[in-house]
Amino acid sequence: MESLGKLEKSNKRPHVVVFPYPAQGHINPLMEFANRLLSHNLMVTFVATEKVKERIAQAQDGDSCANSALENIRIETISDGLTPDLDREKNSAMKADLLKKFGSVSFEHLIERFNAQGKRVSCIVYDSFLDWVPQIAKKFAIPLAFFWTQSCAVYSIYYHYHKRTGLLYSQQLIIVSTIIFSASSTGGLRYLKEEDDLENEMYVKGIFGLPQLCSSDLPSFIQSSNPYPSATKLVLDQFDIVSQAKWILGNSFKELEETEIKSIDSLVQPRTVGPLIPPSYLEGSNPKDTNVRVHLWRATNCMNWLKMKGESTVIYVSFGSFLVLSKEQIHEIAFGLNDSGYSFLWVIRPSDDKEANNITQDLPEGFLEETNGKGLVVPWCPQMMVLSHSSIALFMTHCGWNSTLESLSLGVPMLAFPEWSDQPTNAKYIEDHWKIGRRLSRRDDGLVGREELNKLIKEVMETNQGAELRKNALWWKTLAMKSFGKSGSSNKNIESFVEEVINSA
Ligand code: UDP
Repeated sequence: MESLGKLEKSNKRPHVVVFPYPAQGHINPLMEFANRLLSHNLMVTFVATEKVKERIAQAQDGDSCANSALENIRIETISDGLTPDLDREKNSAMKADLLKKFGSVSFEHLIERFNAQGKRVSCIVYDSFLDWVPQIAKKFAIPLAFFWTQSCAVYSIYYHYHKRTGLLYSQQLIIVSTIIFSASSTGGLRYLKEEDDLENEMYVKGIFGLPQLCSSDLPSFIQSSNPYPSATKLVLDQFDIVSQAKWILGNSFKELEETEIKSIDSLVQPRTVGPLIPPSYLEGSNPKDTNVRVHLWRATNCMNWLKMKGESTVIYVSFGSFLVLSKEQIHEIAFGLNDSGYSFLWVIRPSDDKEANNITQDLPEGFLEETNGKGLVVPWCPQMMVLSHSSIALFMTHCGWNSTLESLSLGVPMLAFPEWSDQPTNAKYIEDHWKIGRRLSRRDDGLVGREELNKLIKEVMETNQGAELRKNALWWKTLAMKSFGKSGSSNKNIESFVEEVINSA
């Protein structure tokens, strides 16, 4: 590349600041992106809250899965305004408000410090959840890249929804929770109030080129039943300022979401730079350096346990970093897994951050003894290492975007257990569009029952339909790998982004 050549000659390395929202599902893709920029010889600073840095360090202590992710990357910290001992998982609304208030001051000081040190910032890549960062970038005249951590389909849905509801939002936020987003027969959007007859209007019919979506396939924050209007505001507010960004980057890849990317008719087209997983997993056989993820919880090294299992025999069960299940739901899953007869590795996060011991308290009595040897229950694991292990046959997932993309990129079929946010939309794509999994149905009491779980495990593990899902998953894996090949779509998008940053530095 000509620009990289110029860069080497002038020895002037543009400085990119990468700033994720302080949560595991946001840190992972942005840290991976920071690593990609580093490999293009840019100076990169990764911004984390003091608490996140402390947790990463603690999680790496002792004999847990220590990793090499932090060897090359420079982390600078900002304050999130909370005392060190406060449980941030339980205070997420407070966390976002205080981060905005204190984090913005702290972040401004950081930029000033860089300027004073002669490390002028050429670009800020910010997590779109941090909607206060653009103001600071503007103040210092720093070009901005908006980084979207969910799918392009979800971006498109929110983007169009935001465009249509912007006026309503400025007038009366609460109205939004009583509106359902739907399509008229002419293909345009219209609003439906709750009192309207929804019977014939429950589908968004292929608008903007997206596949047909039922209202329950939409992100939960814009479903009429959404109980969190403030979350809806948080999500949609991101689109108020998207026009200030010079670049829109997304953790997906062109081959996976071509029509979804095309469906976004904004001035700045999103550039897909994913799947943002460590390159060693995308490079094919015998990945050397796979233990390259940072964790906010200490990851149990379960690789020796997996090694004892046969090829494609284990069900991996995990619901990401936020979701905490009810005791009743845990029981149903436990019985479903046990009834299936298959081996399983199950991540149950402790409900209290400090008590890793309490993960088994909600399991049925005698469950651990009965499944001893066949099942392993851990509070956190190195998910990428687990998913890439040959013993893993199936992933029961909450369909967080990272988990979805990781499973797809490693060719592992899924059982979809979506709960909220973008998860219903991801589940729809997993089952009906990419055809790499089955969605678990809920009973009238809202739970996924043991019979349903047992039935779908058997279907994926033992039938031709299951074999078809596995075949499709491997096909997507190949495309994910290609996107990072020399002339792959994501690779090219990263290269053009780097080139533009260099040219504008
Ligand atoms: N993860 C992990 N170990 C676990 C569970 C999850 O490393 O035991 C990682 C997983 O690989 C993914 C992230 O945590 O990168 C979770 O992100 P996702 O978007 O799937 O869900 P969220 O936590 O945001 O709901």
